[in-house]
Amino acid sequence: MSKTRGKEAPMRRCIGCMESRPKDELIRMVYSQGRLTLDPDGKGEGRGVYLCPDGKCINKATKRNAFKRSVRGEVKADNLETILNELSAYNR
Ligand SMILES: [Zn+2]
Repeated sequence: MSKTRGKEAPMRRCIGCMESRPKDELIRMVYSQGRLTLDPDGKGEGRGVYLCPDGKCINKATKRNAFKRSVRGEVKADNLETILNELSAYNR
């Protein structure tokens, strides 16, 4: 990876390990109208939530209730279940 093109990738914080990483290395989710959804294109409107594509971070975020906390709103149990299901596809 060369830096000659100038612009650095924006950094975002993973809600699992709380480390800042380049945005494009993280899974983006978006919280809008009371629902959290995966936002692979990064085009969703709403509050963005980021997570490493790593099972450890996914587990940490689940245990710490980080989804709910980071959206500052309600995440329903079935919603969370759907998200975790979809996230498991990213788990490496
Ligand atoms: Zn992480």
